[in-house]
Amino acid sequence: MVSSPAQPNPTSARAARFELLTLGDELLLGLTANTHLGFIGGELARRGVRLAHQATLTDGADDIAAQLRVSWARADVVLVTGGLGPTCDDRTREAAAAALGEELVFDAAIERAIAERFARFGRPMTPNNRQQAMKFARGEVLPNPNGTAPGLWLARDGKVLALLPGPPSELRPMFADQVAPRLARLGLLAEHELWAQFRTAGIGESALETKLQPLFAPHGAALEVAFCAHDGFVDVRLASSDGQLTLACLESLATRCAALLGEDFLCHGRDSLAEVCASLLREREKKVAIAEAATGGLLAAAFAGLCGACKFFAGGVVCCLNEAKQELLGLPECLLLQHGAVSEECAVAMATAVAEKLGADYGLAVSGGAGPVGTVHPFTPAAPGGNPVGAMYLALHTPHGTWAKKVCWPGGSTTLKTRAVNAALDWLRRELLRAPVSAPVAGERVAAG
Ligand code: ATP
Repeated sequence: MVSSPAQPNPTSARAARFELLTLGDELLLGLTANTHLGFIGGELARRGVRLAHQATLTDGADDIAAQLRVSWARADVVLVTGGLGPTCDDRTREAAAAALGEELVFDAAIERAIAERFARFGRPMTPNNRQQAMKFARGEVLPNPNGTAPGLWLARDGKVLALLPGPPSELRPMFADQVAPRLARLGLLAEHELWAQFRTAGIGESALETKLQPLFAPHGAALEVAFCAHDGFVDVRLASSDGQLTLACLESLATRCAALLGEDFLCHGRDSLAEVCASLLREREKKVAIAEAATGGLLAAAFAGLCGACKFFAGGVVCCLNEAKQELLGLPECLLLQHGAVSEECAVAMATAVAEKLGADYGLAVSGGAGPVGTVHPFTPAAPGGNPVGAMYLALHTPHGTWAKKVCWPGGSTTLKTRAVNAALDWLRRELLRAPVSAPVAGERVAAG
């Protein structure tokens, strides 16, 4: 139980009980994946709180009110997502007010903010938007710069209730910028992350654990280590839930792990492979271009979505048909006839051609077929001289040479594509690590660290 929501109480961070209620028929119907659980659960866990309970409920007001009564009675913090919109199926405010015996009042400032947002987008504001301007009489408003529905905050009886909007693009910044800092000020959440996480690539989790064990062993039970394998990379989390090891000590241990792992160390934190490649390209003032078939644009999308992509990403070409490879990349017909599209020669030609055509320093190519989404390839052996199902070739063109390699994993086509993208990015990353960093231009200041 929180002593008083107005009083910071850091010692309660681990003891406080947090519950999350995610609302929406679409979640129960399997139409939308419940990403709020992963996001909020992860944000809380990194700052010392383990969600005690999560329930996904229909949009029905009675269901919401019934669960809220139960959660409010036993939890210190109840977070509710969804159902704050303007339509008849958005009943969270009313259900929460009924369950907790709170009064809802109209707030002219909220209505003004909604009206301004509609005006900014040149859209008429309809009367049902007025219901989004209701707040708890005794509560506070969490402004929503990314949507119309503000969040609502109620601190009462030493407990906290936060109602948050459903769209992830609205919920995530509201949670990070407003909810987490408020909870931290109340001593319900640590100010900063309490664990050190780093990411590795190209090494399996069992080999990773074996390699790092000598660094972990001296800390005994005070150190908690968790490994989480993804398609081609592994996250390692170092924590000390009893607080015996400080965050500084965990971070220093992560740094020693990084040194021991060498090129297999990807980054501290959770940056993606593409983000790491992007910063290496930026530091070296180089650009990459992509040519892909099997991965259908996923490799290019990994770069295109990053901030300032035009500084390091020249462009990408998706060319599945041989005709497209000839037309868009100028690959000779005889090369495709002689070696086929799923070949080292084709991949090398794609990587070289795309780099040359788009004026990039590096060309990355993936050729081959991963099959339609959902197909599981049983890792069938190749016919003599042929390729096993799901085989792909990666090629990397660099300023000093071009290479190709064959990759083949068992699994569904979605997994194969993800693995191919990650393997290609990791290859580029390792190559960039060995390339010299550009000297700063005279007079240019280089940020420290
Ligand atoms: P709106 O003003 O858009 O109606 P809202 O607060 O009423 O927002 P909902 O209507 O419940 O929220 O959901 C809005 C959007 O957010 C929908 O596309 C929904 O699928 C998505 N969404 C809601 N909850 C979740 C969740 N738990 N995980 C992922 N997406 C979600």
